Amino acid sequence: MTDYSHLVSDKIFIEGWREGRSERVATDRNPFDDADIVTIRQASKEDVDDAYAAAAKAQVEWAALPPRKRSEVMEQAAQFITENRDAIVALIRAESGSSGIKANVEVGLVLGSLKEAATFPTRIHGGIHPSNTPGKTNFVFREPRGVVGVISPWNFPFTLSMRSVAPALACGNAVVLKPASDTPITGGTLLAHIFEAAGLPSGVLGVVVGAGSEIGDHFVESEVPSLISFTGSTPVGRQIGAKALGGEHIKQVALELGGNAPMVVLDDADLDLAVGAATMGKFLHQGQICMSINRIIVHTDVYDEFVERYGERVRGVTYGSQLDDATIVGPVVNDSQLESVSAKIERARAEGAREIVANPIEGRVIPPHVFADVTPDMELFREEIFGPVVGIARANDEEHALELANDTEFGLSSAVFTRDLTRGVRFARRVEAGMTHVNDITVNDEAHVMFGGEKNSGVGRFNGEWAIEEFTTDHWVSVTDGFNKFPF
Ligand code: NAD
Repeated sequence: MTDYSHLVSDKIFIEGWREGRSERVATDRNPFDDADIVTIRQASKEDVDDAYAAAAKAQVEWAALPPRKRSEVMEQAAQFITENRDAIVALIRAESGSSGIKANVEVGLVLGSLKEAATFPTRIHGGIHPSNTPGKTNFVFREPRGVVGVISPWNFPFTLSMRSVAPALACGNAVVLKPASDTPITGGTLLAHIFEAAGLPSGVLGVVVGAGSEIGDHFVESEVPSLISFTGSTPVGRQIGAKALGGEHIKQVALELGGNAPMVVLDDADLDLAVGAATMGKFLHQGQICMSINRIIVHTDVYDEFVERYGERVRGVTYGSQLDDATIVGPVVNDSQLESVSAKIERARAEGAREIVANPIEGRVIPPHVFADVTPDMELFREEIFGPVVGIARANDEEHALELANDTEFGLSSAVFTRDLTRGVRFARRVEAGMTHVNDITVNDEAHVMFGGEKNSGVGRFNGEWAIEEFTTDHWVSVTDGFNKFPF
């Protein structure tokens, strides 16, 4: 593996590198063999305050720079990543248990985000509106929000941190980032290295590495940030939303939360395509993706054939150490994930789902598991699995397939397979989700296309013009050139 030590720091980043001031230290480890990556003294609440204060101060000048300057920083950041690509891929593999394919996908997505964000500074525009008052003109300016607090998860840490950080910065905001405890480097301080190398002025980005339980509330409740951009689970997102909107300092909140993605296979689907998509869309990164296929819903006319062919295909999926280039399914990220996914396998068996593919768990490596004859009352159908386990449900007809697809509290991604594209689009538009792909996997993200969920999958949108909207706010400024007649 390529040496990545120049990208790893045991410090946090607030106007430069410094030691965290919490009582706690935490060691970042490879989830496959527990090999140490780095030990970091964690950030305290005072560190959070310092990072926010530095950000508030630095934001004013950052926002006042010509747009071209902010674009250049985004381009330089992309350049740094390109030059260090092998080391970054190796680091993602070591820290989050990612296969080579997944780590490369992450870096590609990050480059996409940065290149898209580089166009934002010159794409921000407001409006001019008529007035009913003679001599008056209404302008609506789009301004940066100020300071944005970003909280990110461990599953696609580099991508999901950058997906908020890059557009927020490009739109003239300062950012304080809190990565997940399992991925403090690739979700956190790596971004500080990148933007430092790219020439971002001091203070504009701060990175505080610390446990959600110690600094989380303080991070959200501070009066400094005017937007909290959170990506993570629905239960934590719900709490953060309540604090952001119901706390002393009311602020905007963007919540990108959990999913329970259905993949629907209609009776006229290309089954080769569907079997391949169900394999990649489920097992990429051990199924630990918010958009991972969670339920496969198959029309009864092709159900038995699909189950047989899918089982055969999944039995060929390799698993083991993520550092082995041949591995597709590596370790899950930590022991609590291991317990949660193992319990879901046991529950599926107890509830009577038919086991099609299974192998014994080895350490934190959970081999692919496939269950057929899953019904809507079973846990596998109802809950986000977030592991290499999937259930297949039988649909009596197209309407029933739609009913099953929508029978969930979540609404993030989804997919439908059919050879009739008109039928596919018609079906897709009736799925209660933010994203539905016809004849493709549910795991999809393009930096210039809207990304986001419905229902308990969150509020807010990413990418392209939607990100500009998210990371800026409107300001009505009116100018009157005549003499108003005020009645008193
Ligand atoms: P999580 O909710 O446990 O943690 C996410 C982040 O929140 C971490 O940085 C964590 O430290 C922090 N946190 C925890 N408690 C906090 C608190 N009280 N205050 C402030 N911050 C707190 O999620 P996870 O386990 O890291 O990630 C997996 C989840 O994220 C899954 O549900 C997945 O579907 C979801 N996810 C959603 C998207 C999306 O785009 N919709 C993308 C990736 C992951």
